[in-house]
Amino acid sequence: MANIIDGKALSQKIKDDLKVKVDAFEQKYNRKITLAVILVGENPASQVYVKNKIKATEYVGMKSLAFYLPENSTQQEVEDAVRSLAADDAVDGILVQLPLPKHLNENAVLDIIPAEKDVDGFLAENVGKLTLGLPTTIACTPFGVTKMLESTGLNFSGKNAVVIGRSNIVGKPMALLLLQMNCTVTVCHSKTTNLKEICKQADVVVAAIGRPKFVTADMVKEGAVVIDVGINRTENGLVGDVDFDAVKDIASYITPVPGGVGPMTIAMLLENTYLCAERKINV
Ligand code: NAD
Repeated sequence: MANIIDGKALSQKIKDDLKVKVDAFEQKYNRKITLAVILVGENPASQVYVKNKIKATEYVGMKSLAFYLPENSTQQEVEDAVRSLAADDAVDGILVQLPLPKHLNENAVLDIIPAEKDVDGFLAENVGKLTLGLPTTIACTPFGVTKMLESTGLNFSGKNAVVIGRSNIVGKPMALLLLQMNCTVTVCHSKTTNLKEICKQADVVVAAIGRPKFVTADMVKEGAVVIDVGINRTENGLVGDVDFDAVKDIASYITPVPGGVGPMTIAMLLENTYLCAERKINV
């Protein structure tokens, strides 16, 4: 039976450590670190995410600014909201909750966020810096996965890592981070032909596909570390991309869903907000 990497406990520790750092920042600079969140429309999942992010922001002692724009907001209205936060010196981080309603141009909205307030790490400038190995804001979910890997105390240098999924927000940055950890990285995706064989070679598997229980026991090497990024809403509740019950008997470490990568993502959002505030002081 694999060791369970407890994302809930690890994220709690990160948040409690942050609480101390956020308080010290406030004492030193006489202002609260501030994260602004913009939600457009009434997507129920987004509403839950935003609520949880606000709660966590306040938990660590940061100030949370929330802007709820109606579903039928125009491109101009959404851009204006982001622009005013971009210009506001008191705001350290800006998060536009995605997806935006279909009629809006997401990229045009995100492009208004200054790179130094991009707490999601989605902007081209920050992704470019990550690619070059320069200090930058790292996308929260893959950043959280690296913390989970580090928590095992294992040395990943020279290990085979397989990332399943090549999205801009998870798969691609994840591959870059594993490369920085000196793994030999393979990225699999919907057009990969021999996925099972490739996956079976992996010492580390990161599944970010969005298909319930996609990674089955016969795809996993004995003793592999398996990280499940997937969040799939099924009639049996939240299910990951990994067949947890079967894979846990083969893996050495595994993350559960829920209580794995999900809580880490929020903790890393706060960490990123703190880092953005710190960098602003240091420029
Ligand atoms: P996405 O839909 O943008 O990307 C999915 C990727 O999976 C694609 O690159 C695609 O090529 C690959 N894929 C699809 N079918 C495949 C197949 N049959 N074989 C191999 N690869 C296949 O999704 P995403 O935004 O990267 O998210 C992936 C999953 O992670 C989703 O379940 C999402 O809900 C979850 N997620 C969780 C968190 C978190 O905080 N835990 C954060 C972001 C995303």
